[in-house]
Amino acid sequence: MIYLDYSANTPVDESVLDIFCETERKLIGNANSKHIAGDAAKNMQDEINKSIADLFHISEYEIIYTSGATESNNLAIRGIAHTMRHVGKHIITTPLEHSSVSAPLTALQEAGYEIDMVKIGTDGRVDMESLRSLLRKDTVLVTVCAVDSELGTIQPVKEIREVLKDYPNCLLHIDATQAIGKIDVDFSIADTVSLSAHKFFGIIGSGLLYKKKGLVIEPVIYGGASTTIYRSGTPTVSLNKSLETALLLALKKQKERYDTVSGYNRYLRESFAKYPLVTVNSPDNSIPHILNISVKGVKGSLFQKALNEKGVCVSVKSACSTDNLPSRAVFAVSKNRKNALSSWRISLSHITTEDELNEFIKVFDMCYNELTKNS
Ligand code: PMP
Repeated sequence: MIYLDYSANTPVDESVLDIFCETERKLIGNANSKHIAGDAAKNMQDEINKSIADLFHISEYEIIYTSGATESNNLAIRGIAHTMRHVGKHIITTPLEHSSVSAPLTALQEAGYEIDMVKIGTDGRVDMESLRSLLRKDTVLVTVCAVDSELGTIQPVKEIREVLKDYPNCLLHIDATQAIGKIDVDFSIADTVSLSAHKFFGIIGSGLLYKKKGLVIEPVIYGGASTTIYRSGTPTVSLNKSLETALLLALKKQKERYDTVSGYNRYLRESFAKYPLVTVNSPDNSIPHILNISVKGVKGSLFQKALNEKGVCVSVKSACSTDNLPSRAVFAVSKNRKNALSSWRISLSHITTEDELNEFIKVFDMCYNELTKNS
């Protein structure tokens, strides 16, 4: 098997899994229990909070542990919309968002909120003029990904924050799920930020939401206090320890890994340049980990199936989206429906090897010749 779908999931790092098992075995108490077993878990949780807070230059009290970015995005978007409903019900987003952002927005729209979609330039970035023209006094939220999952475009989140300075009622949510461990993310410019461990060699089912101090949001999950009042449930100390370990590793090795993946990305772009029916959809301003392409006249789902039959794993759109519809993200950038329907995504990591890429190109060549022979 050649696995080229690291943006959908990364295999867990052995050291992350080990620390999870070790912590799970060691700590038998509930971190909220008032006895020595509880205290041991609570102390460990406090250390984890401190360590993660230091990594992102935030306060320990600004971290809400969740089951991953889907929950974090829902909590931020629904929580902010509810809190701000007396100020306004207008929200701005982008066509590049993951379904865990777009779906809660659709639900809010059905509940009477107004959702506007900002224009995306051919460089894949938010069109700042379009953003300025959409902002209103009753805009309460702009929700944007730091990096989108289909094309890998890096969004100008700092510039967006600058524009929002004239709109004090408008909060900024950043979905940093595809950015963490790949590029630096400045949490201080956002009101809320989502991340998920399984995108950087952590364990599936573990993530967090950064929520700026002083911002009160409506919880999505009610119950007893956990590590915060915003998300109930017994503190998942072992998972949180594994999240901290994965984060420490991903951030420490970020530059080195980025450079390795950049080399792989260049190699693939050069290889695809030899195929006249291939369009590279990922703009130049994309993380090297994601390379979205279209083979003219061949549906993305068909190409993906052909590659899969030969042992290569890639994605059509993101793993969580609906099949057989053109990719909204690719359409937003290429403005070409057929091209969007033909698109699919290769995603790389530092554990990809040159041998795998050479083998992939051989398989790609076979599929390309088979599927385009009548073109
Ligand atoms: N946002 C983005 C940009 C993603 O790529 C993903 C995962 N595909 C999510 C959110 C959802 O993450 P999770 O799987 O942790 O729920």
